[in-house]
Amino acid sequence: MITGGCQCGAVRFRVDGDLGEASICHCRMCQKATGGLFGPYVGVEVGELIWTRGVRKRFQSSNKVWRGFCEACGTPLTWEHAGGLTSVMIGALDDPAAARLTVQLGSPSRLACVDDISGLPVHEPTEPRAAAHLASIVSLQHPDRDT
Ligand SMILES: [Zn+2]
Ligand SMILES: [Zn+2]
Repeated sequence: MITGGCQCGAVRFRVDGDLGEASICHCRMCQKATGGLFGPYVGVEVGELIWTRGVRKRFQSSNKVWRGFCEACGTPLTWEHAGGLTSVMIGALDDPAAARLTVQLGSPSRLACVDDISGLPVHEPTEPRAAAHLASIVSLQHPDRDT
């Protein structure tokens, strides 16, 4: 079963079906709406997206699209098109690896640094400095499962 939700746990959903196409979008709206370098989406059938806890807030970002998010913690949750296309944010899934990217949507606002990510040095969480920092953190994030 595919489940997901926001960082604070006030809004939870499940998908009663298979995930559709997964993509990232480089447009300026998706950068702004996610605060990220690009927007990560996986399609769902609108009738198969079931809200199991709380109510998403929606912001209409264009004449055709609403973006769902948690009003309490701000986590982006959905991209909802007036024509019925709906996607959920890949990072909001309890198992983000369940969505396999197959395409990216280009845009003049695409950031060149995206091409450099795979070549950047990686500070592993097991390195002493990082491990000490991480050991001091107490997560207040909702767990990746229904509660
Ligand atoms: Zn929340
Ligand atoms: Zn976009």
